[in-house]
Amino acid sequence: MFDALNESITGRAITGGVLNIEVADIRPFSADKKHFKCDDAPFGGGAGMIMTPQPIYDAINAVDPHHTCRRIFLSPRGMPFTAKRAKELADGYAEILLLCGRYEGVDQRVIDLCIDEEISVGDYVLSGGEPAAIVVADAVARFVPGVLGNAESAADESFQSGLLEYPQYTRPAVFMELPVPEVLISGHHGMVEEWRRGQAEKITRERRPDLLGDRD
Ligand code: SAH
Repeated sequence: MFDALNESITGRAITGGVLNIEVADIRPFSADKKHFKCDDAPFGGGAGMIMTPQPIYDAINAVDPHHTCRRIFLSPRGMPFTAKRAKELADGYAEILLLCGRYEGVDQRVIDLCIDEEISVGDYVLSGGEPAAIVVADAVARFVPGVLGNAESAADESFQSGLLEYPQYTRPAVFMELPVPEVLISGHHGMVEEWRRGQAEKITRERRPDLLGDRD
């Protein structure tokens, strides 16, 4: 699943040595050397299986023996992930460990023992933490110096100004009888800026009025 990160912007950063991603499989760390069992039924009953603490505990201590990584568990119970948190993680930590759950989740004790924070990528349930870890790794990487080229600067993107991005247009100037907004071909930078700002505000007001409440 993590091969997705070898593509495009993150892939180029990995090849260029700006970004390093290591994937560790938890199962080989199971003390059960016959079946490499990593799950068991929940105490107290209920549906599904829970990941047992031992393989996760040993895997984390093998990958990060001196707790130098910021250790994050991907979980629907975590703090909602935002651009702000992505930037803080990129600025604050050289190494981040992302623990992915499976099945019904993970034994609470290994979370209490090993994890610094929990992050959710949205109010829905995924089958495993891997897609969430890819989302976090990609969004954090974009704030690591050297990952984005100058042409891809993070400054103009949605959320950077507390607003969603304005609509974008490129050639041709007319497509299916639809012209691009006049102002964009006026060559007047001030008016372009003003138009973009107005559009960004309009779209944010329509779609995400909640964002307008807490702008910095
Ligand atoms: N029973 C749990 C869901 C388990 S889903 C509950 O109701 O909260 C299995 C795993 O997928 C979780 O352990 C977690 O690592 C991952 N996961 C699922 N949804 C997620 C989300 N919205 N954000 C981050 N990780 C998620």
